Amino acid sequence: MTSTSPVSRYLRDHVPIVDSFRSFVARELVPMARELGVDEPAAISPDDRRLVRRRSADLGFYAGDYPESVGGQDMPFTAKLMMHEYAEASGCPLAPTALCNAEGPSWLLLTGDPQRDDRHLRPLVTARATRCLALTEPDGGSDAFALATTASRKEGGWLLRGRKAFVSNADQADLTLVVARIDTDPPRRSPGIFAVPAGTAGLVVGQRFDGMSGEPVFELLLDDVWVDESALVGAADADAPDWRSAEALARGRLLVAAQCNGMAARALALGVEVARTRSSFGRRIGEHQHVQEHVVASRLALESARLLTAAAAQHFDEGDDVVEFAALAKLAASEAACEVVNRMLQVHGAVGWIRGHPLEYLYRQVRAMTIIEGTSEVQKVIIANSMGLG
Ligand SMILES: Cc1cc2nc3c(=O)[nH]c(=O)nc-3n(C[C@H](O)[C@H](O)[C@H](O)COP(=O)(O)OP(=O)(O)OC[C@H]3O[C@@H](n4cnc5c(N)ncnc54)[C@H](O)[C@@H]3O)c2cc1C
Repeated sequence: MTSTSPVSRYLRDHVPIVDSFRSFVARELVPMARELGVDEPAAISPDDRRLVRRRSADLGFYAGDYPESVGGQDMPFTAKLMMHEYAEASGCPLAPTALCNAEGPSWLLLTGDPQRDDRHLRPLVTARATRCLALTEPDGGSDAFALATTASRKEGGWLLRGRKAFVSNADQADLTLVVARIDTDPPRRSPGIFAVPAGTAGLVVGQRFDGMSGEPVFELLLDDVWVDESALVGAADADAPDWRSAEALARGRLLVAAQCNGMAARALALGVEVARTRSSFGRRIGEHQHVQEHVVASRLALESARLLTAAAAQHFDEGDDVVEFAALAKLAASEAACEVVNRMLQVHGAVGWIRGHPLEYLYRQVRAMTIIEGTSEVQKVIIANSMGLG
């Protein structure tokens, strides 16, 4: 979603916000990354992450799309997505950290009750705290209606029992959102979400697993964790996910779509640069038709994904239901980003495969994007259901 893209016409209202984020990155984050000697996000220490988040929050960028009532800026969601695309495309490893992600506030916590929102959301929006989401279990993550983790009534509150897997930021989080099957009679079909503060007895961070990109995820044990009634986010007797769950999911998917577009844009820019400057058989490699095919197919995949993402973002800002559009955008952008990074590495030849090259990192980073926030197959199920095929 940049000025050279066909979608820029639709997005020009938000350009001033992105420009001011861009100058923050250039003025403060690029020099800071240089000084720290950090070249990949995974190499940033928790303390430096905290510093970047707080500075960005103080400037209004970090969780700017959250309401002013909880410390945000009421920024349009489209502007937030444009910043996320820019952050990934910029190549500055600190830039993505400056915008809230899985560790930041969740729309699930926006209850409208000023006291609750102030307790849980304000510290997250202002980057004074972080959280994590514990949904996936060792036996599966796609089916949130088949969880083994249970929440049962006990002593005026809830007792949580189970084991979670692949939880990002579990080691640093001040608050864990635990998704559990509510064990009541009659049984409730949709799972409940519980806000559990760090240090609650029985909540234990287990084994750490390092992903391809160096990003760690953690096992989380819920060993008879008791929480009071107020920990349940949403009503206990609701038999369907409330609007916040649907909105939170759509937001998460669009955010991944924007990040993917940024990664693809960066890869494409690197590939075009090489295609214009490197030579073989007496010509620039960009003059070979097979190389042009890699570049043009990548451009097509990227611009298509951008258009879908921008359309979904605009629908979102207009208050429309975007479940289907968010799935379309996430599917298109994550698959496109994998394809573009793969093609651009090929255009680079061996140099793009060497540890430390930006494409080598992008190749490892992008692979998670068709898995997180609902796999590509799950997005297809959502789209098919929306088309009446469920
Ligand atoms: C980098 C990273 C960070 C993550 N962070 C978190 C986190 O913070 N919190 C958290 O809870 N989880 C997190 N996860 C886990 C992630 O949410 C899950 O991996 C994802 O939901 C898929 O679940 P699964 O891996 O258990 O695969 P499964 O659900 O077991 O699926 C396995 C395969 O079957 C396919 N499949 C499943 N159901 C269907 C269907 N109905 N139709 C067609 N195909 C289907 C899937 O698409 C997949 O290909 C993270 C994962 C990664 C890689």
